[in-house]
Amino acid sequence: MSPTLHYDAVVLGAGVAGLTAAARLAEGGARVCVLAKGVGSTHLAPGTIGVLGYDPERVEKPADALPGFIAAHPDHPYALFGADAVAPALEWFADRVEAGPQPGYRYTGGLERNHFLPTAVGALRPSALVPETMAAGDTNAPVCVVGLPVLRDFYASLCAGNLRRGGIEARAVEIEVEVGRVEANALGLARRFDDPAFRAAFAGRLALLLRPGERVAMPAILGLRDPHGAWSDIQRRLGGPVFEVPTLPPSVPGIRVYNALVAALRAAGGRLIVGAEALGVEREGERVTAVRAHTSGHDTLFSARWVVLATGGFASGAITLGSDWQPHETIVGLALRGMPAPGEPRFAGDYFGPQPMSNVGVAVDSGLLAEGTENVFVAGAALPGAVPWREGSGEGIALASGHCVAQSVREREGAAAAA
Ligand SMILES: Cc1cc2nc3c(=O)[nH]c(=O)nc-3n(C[C@H](O)[C@H](O)[C@H](O)COP(=O)(O)OP(=O)(O)OC[C@H]3O[C@@H](n4cnc5c(N)ncnc54)[C@H](O)[C@@H]3O)c2cc1C
Repeated sequence: MSPTLHYDAVVLGAGVAGLTAAARLAEGGARVCVLAKGVGSTHLAPGTIGVLGYDPERVEKPADALPGFIAAHPDHPYALFGADAVAPALEWFADRVEAGPQPGYRYTGGLERNHFLPTAVGALRPSALVPETMAAGDTNAPVCVVGLPVLRDFYASLCAGNLRRGGIEARAVEIEVEVGRVEANALGLARRFDDPAFRAAFAGRLALLLRPGERVAMPAILGLRDPHGAWSDIQRRLGGPVFEVPTLPPSVPGIRVYNALVAALRAAGGRLIVGAEALGVEREGERVTAVRAHTSGHDTLFSARWVVLATGGFASGAITLGSDWQPHETIVGLALRGMPAPGEPRFAGDYFGPQPMSNVGVAVDSGLLAEGTENVFVAGAALPGAVPWREGSGEGIALASGHCVAQSVREREGAAAAA
């Protein structure tokens, strides 16, 4: 075992929940270390912030729908910290992206109304806060969907066909580009679009195919280092609205989110170690005193006064189903809530239907403090009671709970200092 490293707060997980909690704690002056066995859902998810998309019908105005949703779902994460906690989290996030390492790149929107943005298959998905580079997707004006045959994860004709079925005038065009095999994916192409000469040549060829009044839908590959520069340059060259459509993973807009949150963490003096798997903890009674993690071939103890568990749910291995058919939180052994009652079905036959077991998460109080502990807080998909895929709420929960956890820790620090 390597020597113990000392921090005020150790955050487990580098998804939206963990990075938000960590950056905010560091901004408050705490010495923070994030341990993550890998990156989180950011690199897979579309990079939009859905707060409440379905209840169960499409939600137009999340601000109006949230109070009723919370009243009807008292075990939901939003019921723990309340609707009023969501807007400040969205504002904090939008500010950090705008101040981040991607100049000019910013989010638009909020809780007043959902944006209905086309997915890669041409369905319209609701999101509260969206990258400015996607916002022009939220109208019914005619659209030309642009495919790059080299990018096999995005079929322009499929997207356009389904948009047409939904009543939007849409057609598809394809532009061949010369890239090497290693660049023939969303990430590689995004790096090519950071190059002004590549963009100019691409826009020049596309301009010849466009019809007057058409919006242009592009796969979300318009730049990684300078997405605002790439998007606004293409838009200027084409002379009309251009918007990005999320692709299959890897998600370029999601990686931009990750980059912005990591930059916010580091700007505030926080540390991030990716490739560090938390294995267990040391305790004194109900207080966790240190996290044991496997880093670079050896185990290290990270001592902390506060621990934030933002390790996700079943999907990321933070909660597993044991051979006893009982779910377990794998690092601290925390108490769980949301299990189907004995005799009730645990799984449904319809793979995409509601799965009772997916409601399971760590039992917490209204300050997101884990039951049976004095200093372990929980954020994101590790919380019980949500069905993010059905509700379109996963990113909103991750962001708002990460934001709230930092607030809870600060309040307890303040109370301890005053005592
Ligand atoms: C492809 C995809 C599309 C999605 N689309 C939507 C959508 O349209 N709408 C919606 O509402 N939601 C969507 N979601 C869900 C949403 O992205 C998640 O609910 C949310 O991002 C969860 O964030 P999180 O920070 O809680 O967890 P995650 O992003 O899962 O992060 C968990 C982190 O914990 C780390 N970790 C786990 N175990 C350990 C350990 N033992 N030690 C150290 N680190 C550990 C992981 O490496 C990771 O860094 C989507 C998710 C995916 C994957």
